Amino acid sequence: MYSKIKQSLRLTTISILMIILTSCNQINTSTVNVESFELNGENEPIEIELGKATSVSYFAMPYKIEEDNIICISENEKIAQAVLNTVTGVSGKKVVNVQIRSKNIGTTNIYIKDSKGNLESEKVSVSVVETLNEDDIDNSDMVYITPTGKKYHLINTCGGENSYKSTLNEANTLGKEPCIKCAQ
Ligand SMILES: [Zn+2]
Repeated sequence: MYSKIKQSLRLTTISILMIILTSCNQINTSTVNVESFELNGENEPIEIELGKATSVSYFAMPYKIEEDNIICISENEKIAQAVLNTVTGVSGKKVVNVQIRSKNIGTTNIYIKDSKGNLESEKVSVSVVETLNEDDIDNSDMVYITPTGKKYHLINTCGGENSYKSTLNEANTLGKEPCIKCAQ
């Protein structure tokens, strides 16, 4: 009788141990693999004035991706730095927002990659330029506006999904004001 209890206790202990081991193993092997990165919007060169910052965003799949899975890279950190800003979820994918901080005049490429180094996103060219003189600004400059928004944007991702390419002249005609984040 006593030995039966002892045996069943031992069996219970073994099963509990096995359950613990199995779940640990699952945790170790379930690090999410990034399946795809996609630039949110068209890949157009970005120009920022020295001392200013801007941002680009990427869609990342699958939804389970977390911040730890993503690394932001600038090929020349002396020109501009790429810093992970936010990772938010939207309709089954993640929106990875990368802040670009200007450091020196010049050009670099920024992109994101997964922390395992298996996958890299498209690269976006970033040029840091001297502060523009008001008089030099060409009124035919391209801007981004949305049908309902009150602002115009210089960065399509800042304008959001509904934004479309337009001219500064049209934006002025429509009474749009410069976005405080990207157009001032
Ligand atoms: Zn904006």
